[in-house]
Amino acid sequence: MQLLNKLYKLNRTLLSDDNYDTLEILNNEIPIKIHKFKSGTKCFDWKIPKKWKVNKGTLKDSNGNIVINSNDNILHLINYSSSYSGKISLKELNPHLYFDKKLPDAIPYRTSYYSENWGFCISYNKYLQLKDDYYYVEIDTEFEDDNLLIGESVIKGKSKKEVILSSYYCHPNQINDGLSGVILLTKLYKKLKKLNLKYTYRFFFWPETIGALTALSQGLIKPKNVEYALVSTTVGYGKNVNYKRTYLGNHSIDNIVEDIDDINILDYKPTGSDERQFSSNGIRIPTGVLTLTPYEKYNEYHTSADNLNLICKNNINKMLDFYIKTVVSYEEYSKCKIVTSGGEPFLTKYNLYRTVSVPGHSDDDLIRNWILHYSDGTKNIKDISKLINVDESIISKFIENFKSKGLLV
Ligand code: ZN
Repeated sequence: MQLLNKLYKLNRTLLSDDNYDTLEILNNEIPIKIHKFKSGTKCFDWKIPKKWKVNKGTLKDSNGNIVINSNDNILHLINYSSSYSGKISLKELNPHLYFDKKLPDAIPYRTSYYSENWGFCISYNKYLQLKDDYYYVEIDTEFEDDNLLIGESVIKGKSKKEVILSSYYCHPNQINDGLSGVILLTKLYKKLKKLNLKYTYRFFFWPETIGALTALSQGLIKPKNVEYALVSTTVGYGKNVNYKRTYLGNHSIDNIVEDIDDINILDYKPTGSDERQFSSNGIRIPTGVLTLTPYEKYNEYHTSADNLNLICKNNINKMLDFYIKTVVSYEEYSKCKIVTSGGEPFLTKYNLYRTVSVPGHSDDDLIRNWILHYSDGTKNIKDISKLINVDESIISKFIENFKSKGLLV
């Protein structure tokens, strides 16, 4: 919780001075390499924006009493709000006020990263108290060229194949959305560091969406090297564990997670977090999302109520166990790969075929042929078991036999 307390209130957004502090604080937990990418850098169809700096954000009534002050909570300003200063009527002010009727006491979190807007976010109950009067707006913000920051931690395994574990540190003054995933990954790093691993694990901390696009477009992640990815977020609140499948729906990581007890499985859809960028055209990294209550299922999402009262430290630890179980189980399964270069192997040569041909085939023939069919180096015993609906233990006996004859590796 100490780490959470340090990070929680910082003005963490796409680019900000506090983003430097965020990664420095994380660097005290686990070794982090900080990659910097300049404002204006093209990332596929996107461009890294400027840094957002807030000098002042106040709304005063006609008597000069402060109604809103962004010093109290940075969520009071639309994230990336531009400057505005003037005396305006409530009618003129209204289109610049954002509230959330579902949670009338909470300040909503609204962003306007890529279009110029100014505005305040206010609780609905406070909004109802505003009188039909004049108000003084003073929003003083600056936009400067700076760097988008990506924090990376690596645990090298025996293989060059990589597993990508990412979370995002943007979303100031909120915990479950984003920050809980960051905390979980720092804990996961410490646990995995102690193990002897097959895959290389790369942990990334960045601002959501533009961070993933930057890493992918600037070569920090090479999709061809990636075995699978997991996006870690919303792991602090809720009772049930949810897993959103990869865009493939039956990748090895999907099959592994599906077999862990007490997990609710959700199908992929192109909404949500960085799984969208990882799964997109031209990238196609199989990416799962392992969460507690997903973002669209809790009312406090994107409001000031996503705070220390909402989340529970035990939840993050419970989810950490699920992540470890998933990663370790994936490590234990190896992919089945046939050694012959094309065509079916000549089974007679290996004493695997009956000596006199008879019409039809036995169940064993069919299982054997399916295993050979699917042993292309992308599937493990569990995957093949699910594809042909035959128990893993039976498949494993066939595979051991193939291996003993030098047909499979
Ligand atoms: Zn969010």
